[in-house]
Amino acid sequence: MFDKILVANRGEIALRVIRAAREMGIASVAVHSTADADAMHVRMADESVCIGPPSSTESYLSIPAIIAACEITGAQAIHPGYGFLSENANFVQIVEDHGLTFIGPTAQHIRIMGDKITAKDTMKELGVPCVPGSEGGVADLAEAKRIGEEVGYPVIVKATAGGGGRGMKVAQTAADMESAFQTARAEGKAAFGNPEVYIEKYLTTPRHIEIQVFGDGKGGAVHLGERDCSLQRRHQKVFEEAPGPTITPEERASIGKICADAIARINYTGAGTIEFLYENGEFYFIEMNTRLQVEHPVTEAIFGVDLVREQIRVAEGLPMSFGQDDLKINGHAIEVRINAEKLPEFAPRPGKITQFHAPGGLGVRMDSALYDGYTIPPYYDSLIGKLIVHGPDRPAALARLNRALGELIVDGVDTTVPLFHALLQEPDIQAGSYNIHWLETWLETNLRG
Ligand code: ADP
Repeated sequence: MFDKILVANRGEIALRVIRAAREMGIASVAVHSTADADAMHVRMADESVCIGPPSSTESYLSIPAIIAACEITGAQAIHPGYGFLSENANFVQIVEDHGLTFIGPTAQHIRIMGDKITAKDTMKELGVPCVPGSEGGVADLAEAKRIGEEVGYPVIVKATAGGGGRGMKVAQTAADMESAFQTARAEGKAAFGNPEVYIEKYLTTPRHIEIQVFGDGKGGAVHLGERDCSLQRRHQKVFEEAPGPTITPEERASIGKICADAIARINYTGAGTIEFLYENGEFYFIEMNTRLQVEHPVTEAIFGVDLVREQIRVAEGLPMSFGQDDLKINGHAIEVRINAEKLPEFAPRPGKITQFHAPGGLGVRMDSALYDGYTIPPYYDSLIGKLIVHGPDRPAALARLNRALGELIVDGVDTTVPLFHALLQEPDIQAGSYNIHWLETWLETNLRG
């Protein structure tokens, strides 16, 4: 059993992990940059270690600094949160080489899923349905054009190392292929150090549906249904809900079983998310994230489980505390991501919070590291909180979201809260009728500066 774990992250997710650890009687160590000396995760942890200057490459991404913080404090395990080092296989290897435990999957699983071509090949092999496209990487423009004709336009050229919505370019017709191919390669190389690309059929009106999976590392695995994360801006999620408004219990059981069986066969450990595009009743695998997702609380709400606690348990070598038959959906949950950004450009707005009040009441959860007088530093991403509501059904959850947003006070900086007030008025949102392009189109007509 762990006595002490180190949380290699900041913001709301660091607090989330510290909370789970405390409830389990495990001491927590926060790490922080000099810019985060006054951050809430530092105040809430049992101990803290400053690991470097503001730049994340020299602090939250500094492997030597984080390993040293473990050695100084005697932490036995590291929870990476999401982002930063959470999907860095090299980091996992180094953690293990130092006799520490990484709370997450093995380096090998992270490596397989971190390369989208290998991930797709592996999933296909494991019986998971995939988007039609190239068999592996595409070597040159001539091959790209040939595949474009074969698959049929529109197609999307994707960097195998891509992530966070970067390294993807759509070619509507053969005339766009040259620019899509070159741009995706250039972005892959510049942002991820790997120019290799592959090609997929571009689905025109899909929903983004992802399946939460959990494995015990010994061939046991379950699924915890789906989340619909179709409301996206620039391929980034802003609003997520579970269950998906259009998914039937039969579809859930069938795709869920395919996913759980797939990760069981590779002895996957811990939490993971298998992402699909869903169109005309078919699921098409796009990628797997080998970590906790930002939107994990909607799944926790409807299944009544603590996914972080479960991650820690499994990392300790304990069996999972639930089996597939224990997992029953209760009601509906929605999460909105609150960013310190100014609309309509979504321009980052770090600065001082003059007043903060979190909404409360039945079925309301606010995961945030804000407090009165806190200054949001300009060095990190602009997520400042997640508001999660849970109700007996979707209309109740929407009404609760509306009520909770009305209670939330974040003064001193601009936020994305007005966007959610406006979205809740939309008949399509009320009806759950949207796809991955809905929000971009809506923003163009409703929020243009
Ligand atoms: P990332 O790793 O950058 O998040 P993903 O492969 O998960 O990239 O794709 C992110 C988003 O891009 C999807 O949710 C979807 O909106 C869009 N997308 C990706 N592949 C396709 C495709 N084949 N057809 C249509 N949209 C796609």
